[in-house]
Amino acid sequence: MKPSRVRIAHLYPEALGTYGDGGNVDVLAARLRWRDVAAEVVTVHVGSPVPTTCDLIVIGGGEDEPQSVAAAELAASLPAALDAGAVVLAVCAGLQLLGHTYSTTSGQTVAGAGVLDLTTVAGRRRAIGEVLADPVDLELPRLTGFANHAGETRLGPAAHPLATVVSGPANHPGGKDEGAVQGKVVGTYLHGPVLARNPGLADHLLQLATGLDLEDLPDEEVEHLRQERLGHRPGPRLRWR
Ligand code: GLN
Repeated sequence: MKPSRVRIAHLYPEALGTYGDGGNVDVLAARLRWRDVAAEVVTVHVGSPVPTTCDLIVIGGGEDEPQSVAAAELAASLPAALDAGAVVLAVCAGLQLLGHTYSTTSGQTVAGAGVLDLTTVAGRRRAIGEVLADPVDLELPRLTGFANHAGETRLGPAAHPLATVVSGPANHPGGKDEGAVQGKVVGTYLHGPVLARNPGLADHLLQLATGLDLEDLPDEEVEHLRQERLGHRPGPRLRWR
């Protein structure tokens, strides 16, 4: 049975909205509505705790300083939202904030929420560029996105990589892990927004949150854009001018 309404919390967009990751919220809401499921977006501003009444929680990327502004509130209130059953997507700074600690480029160590078994330290060089990565545990097509971060993240045993990098920057230099998955928490370094580029991942999160067996959506335009990102030449029928 379809839920009457799915609630999506968009966390701290004024601090964690640098890379357009708020688009992930739009994608989730649109893919619900296209299937005749009502979606409600709850914007949570800095200074407010994470609500325990949302089905999905979306956290975006941002720079070290605004990221640190959101850290204490998130660490204090996110665990209760997870206990209440929420599914979480956290991108870049969001991923770093969900680990045990991260260090900033100015040398501060900041406590994270500790719901992903990972630790991040500031690297000397920024990882910037397009990424292709193959999902590890999830049956999803190759992921595409772009990375832009100084932090170097290493996973502990309780977190699994979301994907294995085929090309572009990984969680840390010299590694191949992209992102992290632990229970209902999915973290990734991929911007794009990642769910616009990878609707399969959006549907995976929606399925986790709703328990629905979601019907496929016609994604011809998205597929065309994906093929461009994956390095294929666009077919003549859909070539943009
Ligand atoms: N401030 C973090 C870093 O540079 C996160 C950047 C981001 O969210 N894109 O590592």
